[in-house]
Amino acid sequence: MKKFELVVVGGGLASARAIKAYREAGGGGRIALVSRDDSVPYHRPPLSKRYLRGETDREGTLVEPESFYADQDVELLLSRTVEAVRPAGRRVELASGETLSYDKLLLAPGAFPRRLDVPGADLDGVFTLRTLDDATRIRDAAAAAGRAVAVGGSFIGMETAASLRTLGVEVALVELAETLFPILDAPELSRGLADLYRDRGVELVLGESVASFRGDGRLEAVETAGGRMLPADLAVVGIGVVPQTAFLEGSGIELDNGIVVDQSFRTSAPDVWAAGDAARFDDPVFGRARRIEHWSNANYQGTEVGKAIAGADGRYDSVSTFFTEVFGVTIKVFGDTSQAEGRTFDDSLERFLALYVEDGRLAGAVLSGQDAETEERLKRPIRAHVPESEVAR
Ligand SMILES: Cc1cc2nc3c(=O)[nH]c(=O)nc-3n(C[C@H](O)[C@H](O)[C@H](O)COP(=O)(O)OP(=O)(O)OC[C@H]3O[C@@H](n4cnc5c(N)ncnc54)[C@H](O)[C@@H]3O)c2cc1C
Repeated sequence: MKKFELVVVGGGLASARAIKAYREAGGGGRIALVSRDDSVPYHRPPLSKRYLRGETDREGTLVEPESFYADQDVELLLSRTVEAVRPAGRRVELASGETLSYDKLLLAPGAFPRRLDVPGADLDGVFTLRTLDDATRIRDAAAAAGRAVAVGGSFIGMETAASLRTLGVEVALVELAETLFPILDAPELSRGLADLYRDRGVELVLGESVASFRGDGRLEAVETAGGRMLPADLAVVGIGVVPQTAFLEGSGIELDNGIVVDQSFRTSAPDVWAAGDAARFDDPVFGRARRIEHWSNANYQGTEVGKAIAGADGRYDSVSTFFTEVFGVTIKVFGDTSQAEGRTFDDSLERFLALYVEDGRLAGAVLSGQDAETEERLKRPIRAHVPESEVAR
């Protein structure tokens, strides 16, 4: 059995950031990075954008160069799956039969795409998009495809539709709601996006769900519940993700829609921390538990948890943010809009601002085309929960 000071489960952004911050904060000993992926950690946002469009290569997506891991005395255990964690014995068991013992353990297993449970979902040409390999396969398929269908009108579906269209593929986007980006509940933004997509030649099929994927071994068409048959050589399903926590069942580590952690990312087990898409953490800004499936969160939490594991002060103390980019328009979301009501101030796509109020206080903002100063200025009142009367000014 190999012994490590720190075992890191998961090879994503949170893990790479944690290792760097751990070392920078003086964390010693040998580190093992165990990942199901066959690559060192990479950034996922380019997979639906620049990488998919062929504007960057694999190296351009890496969080740290390959040499970083040897330099930091990290043993890379790639293409390996963790099957079980035994906190009482401080052990991690891999599907390969290997067992690792740890003094400290970081769980950052991220999330995995939800699959559509309809006939034909396993046909060639039907994809989900999470890994570099997925993106490469979709890019290769797009090179030969005349027509594609993106399923889902949220981030992944919208970004993929925009990138495939930019590559010259005929694209239809199917979304269950009557608008794009329904989760933000920002009607002016959704309308602006719908106009943009139609202008760029994307067919929007709104208020519709997918009933089946049709084809003989290979995708030929996507059938909607309303009976429409959309010809397609390629379909990308982007209907949300689920945290990858099945391997922790029975471990005794508390799970509840993710791995439950406190403000310093500690789980219910001693010397076990968790961060990133899979962690359900205490957000002191809103006084409630949240799980966030976005880049800025994994970036920030990874750094903070690395410090915490090294014994320095690492904690969640931030206004959460995330971004998406479609057809060159970058949309940002600050704070928590999920339980708040939005009011729009700037309503064009090029310059958009909606503020979200919860219990009479500012809780979030959705914006595009604002300058950096305005963006920074917005985060302070969200953190301070300024009253609605001040928001309106
Ligand atoms: C195509 C795409 C585009 C995106 N674009 C944006 C964007 O524009 N803006 C934004 O804010 N966010 C975006 N995101 C989300 C963002 O990339 C994620 O929030 C971020 O990657 C989460 O990092 P993580 O380290 O928590 O998990 P992940 O990146 O998911 O990494 C988890 C790692 O753990 C491994 N793993 C899981 N279980 C096991 C196991 N049992 N054993 C071994 N290894 C395991 C996985 O293989 C993976 O390597 C995008 C995501 C995708 C897929």
